[in-house]
Amino acid sequence: MTFSDLKALRPDIQITREEMLWREDTATVPFKITRHFASLIDADDPSDPIRRQSVPTCLENSKAGNYETLDPQQEEQHLIAPRLVHRYQGTAAFLTTDYCAMYCRHCFRRRFTGGMAGPAADQEIQAAAKALSENLQIKEVLLTGGDVLTLSHDQLRYLISSFRQARPDLVLRVCTRIPIVDPDRIDASLIQLLESFDTAPFYVMLQVNHPRELTDKALRAVRLFTDSGFPVLDQTVLLKGVNDNVLILKELFEKCIANRIIPYYLFQADLVSGTASFRVPLSESLRIYKDLKPLLSGLAYPKLALDLPNGGGKVNFSTDSYIEEDGWFLFDGPDGRKHRYPKD
Ligand SMILES: *Cc1c(COP(=O)(O)O)cnc(C)c1O
Ligand code: SF4
Repeated sequence: MTFSDLKALRPDIQITREEMLWREDTATVPFKITRHFASLIDADDPSDPIRRQSVPTCLENSKAGNYETLDPQQEEQHLIAPRLVHRYQGTAAFLTTDYCAMYCRHCFRRRFTGGMAGPAADQEIQAAAKALSENLQIKEVLLTGGDVLTLSHDQLRYLISSFRQARPDLVLRVCTRIPIVDPDRIDASLIQLLESFDTAPFYVMLQVNHPRELTDKALRAVRLFTDSGFPVLDQTVLLKGVNDNVLILKELFEKCIANRIIPYYLFQADLVSGTASFRVPLSESLRIYKDLKPLLSGLAYPKLALDLPNGGGKVNFSTDSYIEEDGWFLFDGPDGRKHRYPKD
């Protein structure tokens, strides 16, 4: 996409200088926004939270971010089959495709997303299925990417049946932003496809970052899942200028709960190249998270989590211990070793 395509969708939007100066490079993802998400932009506000998530700026091109790398989770080092990342005992992630309906400007998997890989080939799916049948400690697989719901129904059916054949006990998480960015794509035929795997436990994992994303259309798409018995959970990314505000997060999580979406994680943004302008300093994230607690019910209050750099793994502020030292937070990582994350 180009800025002229955006102007065609929204003639009332003035492209800013920072947007105009954006250049696609290794630390960016391609520019692509859906008609629906573009319709939500407030043209009068150049720093509109919907716009910040979807329209690129030259800040993505700056190499200024400290400690940043393209793959801070070191997923490439944890592959047990092509596209199958195994970093946690009971859980693995399968990168189903590198394609998304819209590319989020803060995408943490940008080493992969929006590249040239395309959907997983049949041989890759079979190799992953084989690895799953040999690793019985894996109980859940995240179908992620990219966005798994950009696959055709035939591709989706093949993927799910291959994994279920290899491991009839497998729990599958459908990780997607389609209900939020392109809600009309969620229809009865998709639900029927999932229901045809009548013994398969599916969990739908959304990413909702601002209450204005929960439009009537998005909520209708979510309802198609929840009414059919598929639990829907939200993983919000804490993003500067989008939702780094207690009242906005309160409104977001309350609206989730009112619509049967369970706030699961609030993520500290990863130390990924090109995303420094979105990162909330960790000390500030902790303050926001603590201030939020008395305002929400237990059900509406997600877990604050972060991925330790250098592949240290995920830590959770509610259950994992950490100490503060100089400019750093020191965590006990899932691997039992100490890992550090910059405070600011
Ligand atoms: C976070 C993550 C998991 C585990 O997810 P939980 O919800 O914490 O169980 C598994 N694989 C990858 C690649 C992840 O990033
Ligand atoms: S939907 Fe997910 S994978 Fe796709 S661009 Fe957004 S954050 Fe990245």
